[in-house]
Parts: sequence; C-alpha cells; structure tokens
Amino acid sequence: MNVIFPTVYGPVVSWRYGRSLGIDPIGAISTCSFNCVYCQLGEIEHLSGDRQIFVDTADILVELDKFAPWQVDVVTLSGSGEPTLAKNLGEIIQGIKTLTGRLTLVLTNATLLNDAQVRKELSLADKVSVKLDGLWPTQLQKINRPIADVSLEGILTGIKAFQQQFTGELSVQTMVLQPWDQAAEHRYLELLSVIKPREVQLNTPTRPKPLQRELEGRGNHTGNPYGDRPVTQIKCVDGQTLQNLAQKISGTTGIIVRCAPLKVF
Ligand code: SF4
Repeated sequence: MNVIFPTVYGPVVSWRYGRSLGIDPIGAISTCSFNCVYCQLGEIEHLSGDRQIFVDTADILVELDKFAPWQVDVVTLSGSGEPTLAKNLGEIIQGIKTLTGRLTLVLTNATLLNDAQVRKELSLADKVSVKLDGLWPTQLQKINRPIADVSLEGILTGIKAFQQQFTGELSVQTMVLQPWDQAAEHRYLELLSVIKPREVQLNTPTRPKPLQRELEGRGNHTGNPYGDRPVTQIKCVDGQTLQNLAQKISGTTGIIVRCAPLKVF
C-alpha cells in the first residue's frame, strides 16, 4: 500500500513535552469517540468507539524511518482522532520504540480504557496523558460530546484500572473553558485523588476552532493557522485564572501542575 497521507508530522514544540514528533494512527478521516467543542481537527468526521486498523504499522514505520536520527524528546501518538481506536496501537508503539529508541507518549480521551486489550497495548507507552474536561456527566456531554455509550463513570473506572497496571508516567490533561467555582475545584481534587496522576496539565482553548477538517490542527500552532477558512472562537479563561487554579491544585495535592503556555507549579 502506498502512503499518500502524512502519518508522521512535526516535530512540533509541545508546551508539555518539549520537541515532539507526531504519529497519526488514524489517518485521512478524523475519527474519535468524542467530538470536543474545542477540537482543532474541526468537527469530527467519523464518531465511533470501534477499533480498527486505519493505517498499516509498516507504512507508519517506513515514514518514521525518514525522520532519522529523531532528534526529539518524545514521539507522540495522537493525530487525527483517538489513537486507542487504532487496533494496531500496541504494534505501532513497539515499532516506534525499536526503530527510534525514543520515549513514546499517547494522548488519549480514555474512553476505551475499560477494554483490557487497549490497556495492555497502551501500557507499552512510556507516558500516557488522559483527558479529563467534564467534571460531571452533564459537563462531559456539553464539552466532549461523546458517542452514546460513553459515560463519565465508565471513563473513571477505565482510568483507574489502567493506573493499576501502568508503570510509566500517567498525566491528566484538562481544558478549562470557564472559571471554576469552589464546587468544581473540590470535584477536580476528588477526581485527582482517584486517578493519582504524576502530573496535571491545564490548558484553555485560546486557538480558534476550525469548523471543518483541518490537517493543520494536528500540530501545535499559535494564533490562527487556518487562513480565511471558517473558524469559531471558543470560550476560554485568561492566563492568570489558569495559573491561580494550577497553583491551588499543586499546593493542595503536591502534584506537578503544568499550565499553558509554560508555567510549572
Ligand atoms: S478527544 Fe481529541 S481528537 Fe477527539 S474530539 Fe476531543 S480533542 Fe478532538
């Protein structure tokens, strides 16, 4: 099979992980079990929770080989949707490690972590960052707009099960869309005490969201990389609000909290 879709991209400079080479195991049609209101890919084209092979592992590795000597801090699987939907996830992670010897990271929305096979494959990564935006079921529906059979309770059960078997670095990534009141702060701390992450990453959607599928959305651009194509601005909080929240979380829990763009508490 000839690869016509660029499944390896970057390196991009990530505020969380340094120089990162991106791997896209999903490919041409954006596919995810979420359709987050702020998603940089545009509206998700294929909403699904079913695993399948989107891009052959061999094709990804052939492309990755061209990026030698891989002068990056990490090789990151995210791309055009939810990477755990790729049925060859484990094979891809293993292949990247063998070929490059670099650290691997998977950014996931955690909706598939109740599947023991997904947990087993994901455990091969060195670092995993799980998304936690909706603190209550209603928020999950509003912010992440998941497929029908996804629930917050199910996501948390899956993360907990994964946490128990994962020996790498587990982080929580949270997009803050509006200032949190005391109840939200309390609830977040409660959820962190269940998940027990090594690190928390707080962000807010300062970039405009493209309305249609954008390949550029996979990268880590500042400003608006979408030219005059249609975008919408999502509600976000100011930098100081985010930093105050980060400081509070770190002070209360002792967990390292990274806060976009570059603050660490
Ligand atoms: S989980 Fe990621 S890829 Fe999926 S819709 Fe949300 S931001 Fe987009």
